[in-house]
Amino acid sequence: RLLRILAGEETTRRTLPDNAILVARNLGPADLLEYPAGALKGLLLEEGSAASHAALVARALEIPCVGRLSGVQDRLSEGDIVIVDGETAEAHLRPRAHVIEAARSRLLIRESLRADIAGLRHLAAITLDGEPITLLSNAGLVSDAAALDATGADGIGLFRTEFQFMVQDKLPGLEAQTALYTQILDAAGDQPVTFRTLDIGGDKVVTFLQGGREENPALGRRSIRLGLDRPPLLRLQLRALLRAARGRELRVMFPLIASVDEFTLAKGLVDAECDWARRRGWALPSILRVGAMIEAPALLWHLEALLAQTDFVSVGTNDLMQYMFAADRTNPSVADRYDTLSPPFLRALAQIHAACAASGTPVSVCGEMAGRPLEAFALIALGFRRLSAPASGIGRVKRMILTLPLARAEKLIAPLLT
Ligand code: PEP
Ligand code: MG
Repeated sequence: RLLRILAGEETTRRTLPDNAILVARNLGPADLLEYPAGALKGLLLEEGSAASHAALVARALEIPCVGRLSGVQDRLSEGDIVIVDGETAEAHLRPRAHVIEAARSRLLIRESLRADIAGLRHLAAITLDGEPITLLSNAGLVSDAAALDATGADGIGLFRTEFQFMVQDKLPGLEAQTALYTQILDAAGDQPVTFRTLDIGGDKVVTFLQGGREENPALGRRSIRLGLDRPPLLRLQLRALLRAARGRELRVMFPLIASVDEFTLAKGLVDAECDWARRRGWALPSILRVGAMIEAPALLWHLEALLAQTDFVSVGTNDLMQYMFAADRTNPSVADRYDTLSPPFLRALAQIHAACAASGTPVSVCGEMAGRPLEAFALIALGFRRLSAPASGIGRVKRMILTLPLARAEKLIAPLLT
């Protein structure tokens, strides 16, 4: 896309010119939500890596984003033309005419590819040898529910509830939370939705909920730890979820569970909320399933105990990678140093899959890797049959699945584990 540049972080948000690109040092995950839908056509960040939450939100909003452009703010001025290629993670500053021409023809090719993928929307994702794969979508915004139909996803495998908290400056009350969850469930219709409880902390900052500054927020009081330290906060959310799902299926999972005890405690709060609702004569969900995210490596050595308690689990590979390799997912100089397809990570995934198969626990993978065809190929070859990916990855992964000879893939993956 050939676009104009607005330099600086304090752009006047509601008065963007057409085809505006934003340049900033870094953005918080919620900052992009402040711009009118469709107004921003590109994003250049001096910091920020592909797995940072600002990048995740940009991907959800389909805004091409390139990070790690050190010094880019100084090299551009307002009105400059830039090509932002989110797919190759390249930005061309003030390109010459022939570069613009080349970009135009790449765009045309990609658009026809996209049309091709859109044509697969109504096809089931089945491998060449007939194995069906469930392809779900990651979501966090109301607008994502509308995108379900456009992507042809089989449901929402990860709904990031914290986004609602990140876009305002006070706690959303019971009514507001219930209204959002109801809207999402209504939009999904018969398709399943898995709500993840608040995953605040790390780079997902919600100032009105967090205490003081932490030296090392990714390892700090984030996620389920915050919820367990402040039970009324988590209970309010669970109450909203139970209300929104009365008479239908509710799937809830807890983020960053690092010990079985944490899951037991969190599940106890669900039970307490169910009792509370029952005492008041409120209708309950017709089916209630409670799961855990596998994101903390410690769980790998306690899977049997965990799986005995969970109705399902989902592997959050973004965080699992960061903690396994001790590499901050938001720090551009280390985030891409380690590989999801390296033996240790593949073996961790194989181990999780084997434990889930042995205990009969449904398992999905919901990190970004599930939306990239090569990595999705590896996941399926390892045995995973449920993938939850950003909306932008679903069509590409489906195209891969439709041409995948699974039996061969399974043979190919084995040596890679060592
Ligand atoms: C993950 O960690 O892989 C995940 C899906 O959760 P988030 O990216 O929201 O931390
Ligand atoms: Mg995570």
